[in-house]
Amino acid sequence: MVREKTMIVVLGGGPGGRIASIRLASAGKEVRLIEHGGIGGQCLNFGCMPVCALNDVARTIHSVGIFQQLGLFDSTPPVNFSKMMEEMHAIQSKIACVLDAETKSAGVDITYGKSGRLDGKTVFVADEKVEADAVIAATGSLPYIPDIPGIDLPGVYTPHTLFQIKSMPERLVIIGGGVMAAEFAYIFRALGSEVSLIARTTVLKNIDKHLRTLAMKDLLSVHIQENTRIRSIGWNDRGKSLQITTDGKIPHYDADAVLIATGLVPNSAMLGGLKKGPEGEVIVDDHMRTSVPSVYACGDVVGPPYLTPVARHQGIVAADNILGIPRKMDCRFIPQSINLSQELAFCITEKKNMGSLAIPGPAGPGTFWSVPSNTTGLAKIFVEPEHGSIEGVCTAGPGGGLITGYMAFLMQHHFSVHDFEEFIEIHPSTDGVSGLAKYASERLKKRNSS
Ligand SMILES: Cc1cc2nc3c(=O)[nH]c(=O)nc-3n(C[C@H](O)[C@H](O)[C@H](O)COP(=O)(O)OP(=O)(O)OC[C@H]3O[C@@H](n4cnc5c(N)ncnc54)[C@H](O)[C@@H]3O)c2cc1C
Repeated sequence: MVREKTMIVVLGGGPGGRIASIRLASAGKEVRLIEHGGIGGQCLNFGCMPVCALNDVARTIHSVGIFQQLGLFDSTPPVNFSKMMEEMHAIQSKIACVLDAETKSAGVDITYGKSGRLDGKTVFVADEKVEADAVIAATGSLPYIPDIPGIDLPGVYTPHTLFQIKSMPERLVIIGGGVMAAEFAYIFRALGSEVSLIARTTVLKNIDKHLRTLAMKDLLSVHIQENTRIRSIGWNDRGKSLQITTDGKIPHYDADAVLIATGLVPNSAMLGGLKKGPEGEVIVDDHMRTSVPSVYACGDVVGPPYLTPVARHQGIVAADNILGIPRKMDCRFIPQSINLSQELAFCITEKKNMGSLAIPGPAGPGTFWSVPSNTTGLAKIFVEPEHGSIEGVCTAGPGGGLITGYMAFLMQHHFSVHDFEEFIEIHPSTDGVSGLAKYASERLKKRNSS
């Protein structure tokens, strides 16, 4: 029998694989999407969405705390942890239904509950060999598990298992010093756990210094031990709690739960025959082509940055190239954020010696009551002094992520601070960036004319 349509197999129904499948099916291709877990991948099931869910509650407690300090509220209500988890899972299921319906209605044939693997260009779904004209590997990433004795004990969680936890740990030890570790530390501290963060290096060491200062303010009541290695995890004498032994100033911690938040690694073991890097990341060119003809890869499986929008965009690039529409991935302007008491977001190009300007975030919706505690956030821009091109932006405050996303787009399209002369902002708002750009434009014009 001759197949009339081109058949494309996509391995993994996370953000990368799902969006690529929809793009291909919408263009009339026959697409089979293999997903052995839940649609939406880590983003919906273990990452962005559950972190949003818990952070929303944590921020509410934080805001109530500010009102309480000012005498507006008498107390902060306690959180019903198990109810919060139950409701969160219900909402995740609802979103999964929407994603499933959207994907199927685009014409994608989804096979759930089976694992796919590759041997070069040959695809297997479970043990069945499947004919495919092209393949996209979008198998994502897995939590990195450091080699520590006792790391597999019950009570030690990763982001993939944490959300099965039934009650709030009174004492939580988090291993890690990056964005993920900081976000979980903020959440559990706000919910009421006693949180210790143990990091091998400096916490949030790669973040802009102004944003890092704000982040550390949010983590003030978290006990942080940096430049410390964990030696082992075991049970304490009575076997009731975990004991973490370190080589740092505080050698022992007792905890009810330990969370490993040491980052992600590409999930590529099942992708045989493809050229890979040292961490197992599938090597791709900027068309998302792997070393095997007609096999493409996208998302976390090709290595960092491990971000949903990057995975989605790479999925689109892979799909378009399969469709014969030449397209390249541009990784120069990727906005990122850390969600703590507010959104701390940034996008900074690698250009050196840029001038920078920073101001506190304006008082506005969501920051008015933060004026007394000087926690209205921040706006910061990096500017190339001769032409005024914007080479970086940092924001902290409600809507900081949105502002930075759009600014990254303007940066990609070579906007300068002078273009902001025509910009009319919303008021009241917590956007400090547009005012800062106007101010920078005036200053540069004066400087360059003298
Ligand atoms: C705690 C946490 C917080 C995060 N927060 C953010 C954030 O705030 N913002 C952000 O942008 N990103 C965040 N991320 C990262 C984001 O979740 C990932 O970058 C994104 O999900 C990657 O999408 P993907 O499609 O490449 O892979 P994944 O989401 O990992 O999806 C891969 C899919 O493939 C399936 N699969 C794997 N192997 C097979 C196989 N052999 N056969 C069939 N199916 C298979 C898996 O079940 C999974 O559904 C976070 C991640 C974590 C863990």
